[in-house]
Amino acid sequence: MQGLMMDFQLTIPSLLRRAEQLFPNKSIVTRLPDKSVHRHSYKEFAVRTRRLAVALKQLGVRPGDRVATLCWNHYQHLEAYFGIPSMGGVLHTLNLRLSPDDLEYIVNHADDQVILVDQVLWPLFEKFRSKVHPRHVIVIPNGGQPIPAGALNYEELLAGADPSQYEPYDHDENAAAAMCYTSGTTGRPKGVVYSHRSIVLHSMVCAFVDGMGIREADVVLPVVPMFHVNAWGLPFTCTMVGTTQVFPGPHLDAASLLQLFDNEKVTITAGVPTIWLGILNALDADPHKYNLSRLRHMVVGGSAAPRAMIAGFEQRHNLHVLHAWGMTETSPLGTICTLTSEVAQLDEEQKLDYRAKQGIPSVLVEMRARGDEGIIPNDGVSMGELEVRGPWIASSYYHNDEPDNKFTDDGWFRTGDIVTIDALGYMEIRDRSKDVIKSGGEWISSVLLEGAIMGHPAVAEAAVFAIPSEKWMERPMACVVLKQGQTTTADEIRKFLEPKFAKFQLPDAIEFVNEIPKTSVGKFKKSVLRERYKDYKVA
Ligand code: AMP
Repeated sequence: MQGLMMDFQLTIPSLLRRAEQLFPNKSIVTRLPDKSVHRHSYKEFAVRTRRLAVALKQLGVRPGDRVATLCWNHYQHLEAYFGIPSMGGVLHTLNLRLSPDDLEYIVNHADDQVILVDQVLWPLFEKFRSKVHPRHVIVIPNGGQPIPAGALNYEELLAGADPSQYEPYDHDENAAAAMCYTSGTTGRPKGVVYSHRSIVLHSMVCAFVDGMGIREADVVLPVVPMFHVNAWGLPFTCTMVGTTQVFPGPHLDAASLLQLFDNEKVTITAGVPTIWLGILNALDADPHKYNLSRLRHMVVGGSAAPRAMIAGFEQRHNLHVLHAWGMTETSPLGTICTLTSEVAQLDEEQKLDYRAKQGIPSVLVEMRARGDEGIIPNDGVSMGELEVRGPWIASSYYHNDEPDNKFTDDGWFRTGDIVTIDALGYMEIRDRSKDVIKSGGEWISSVLLEGAIMGHPAVAEAAVFAIPSEKWMERPMACVVLKQGQTTTADEIRKFLEPKFAKFQLPDAIEFVNEIPKTSVGKFKKSVLRERYKDYKVA
């Protein structure tokens, strides 16, 4: 017997309709490249989005065509998030921190038919423009310059389109709505294609109280770029829920962000740990400069949030970090570290231990971890590679010619993350499989060491990686950046670590550096450090 419910398609146009009907007076705020602030209402956003959908159709964009964006976080990018899929196109966000070579490869691989470019990013586009072949290039005029020859002006295009001609593409929830390439540190970037259905379900679970807990009354500022896994789904979730949305534009330094949190009374924000480490330093230096009393939580993911950072925000500034884990392939929300009532009863130190874990799977996501001998027990000690499945987890890559073993025969996605899962279901990342340090047959967790070193009061950032060793095969080495004006020594750091680690786990070498190289999305780029120190001789 079949259920007798409507076969209502879960599509992005339905989220747009809801936003326009229920929240016309809510605001979308953008800090522009010149630092002035642009504000408009959801009503204006919805009408402009419909105009964009109509304009794209008039330019010949057909359902399934890829429309790329090379943009910072701002209101026109939000219009693209909704306007492109709402007319059947596929929103393809380009990571503006990638090399021109990678961008050229990605645009050609995705066969992007149209590219929307921020005028302030035109110099970057120029570097690969002659090697890509979109039918149209549309410039968002945010640079105060004339529009380059051959390109269309986004604002003129919208002004010339009639929003009443909008025809929502909402009859196939499984149609592609968006795509994003992995930031791939090994091999070529790979395309992940999200469907309308996966985005709608993901948005609902992100908003969920035990997810990110996003409500209509919230003011949400995604620091995470809109080119990094759809800004973790926040633009879709927030529009669905009707929150006030604040986009920071290109100014992402700690002082600019803190000022914006304060001015706009932000309640929820999200980004990678390197952003928050900078913010914590700025707050420590001047704790009373900003009023952050409305900030309910800061969602931190993309790399492990160090325990000391979570504690520092909580204890010194009364600010709450919500740790989450995900990947481009998982839309991204996979796990989130909300505390179940069982964990909430523990003492403060134990609770902090939990909050530094990556958390429990979100609703509809299932996880398990596989070691050498098969699926490992959930005992919080055994380590294995995390596998996940769920309605917003990729089932394959887009037109992938390279052999890959990322999907198991029984339909799970192999994440490449080495984890433990405890009896209460909390997952903790110990390493990326390629970053694992294997010393004399024993695994040493670079993530745990980094987190502990970053707990030292003089340390701003620390990355731990493997260096070759004749005797042990690999040994851990740490590169450490000190906070401004602070000093310490390698011996002091080692002493600081001793109570928490077995002797063999302590780094053999600790180098003080000015900066840790970062990937295009702000994670530590350990491959560079491994290469730099590959001939390092341990004393
Ligand atoms: P990306 O696809 O660029 O978002 O990268 C996904 C990878 O980032 C994951 O496979 C993890 O290795 C890492 N990652 C994401 N969130 C976390 C987290 N909370 N803690 C540790 N690593 C994380």
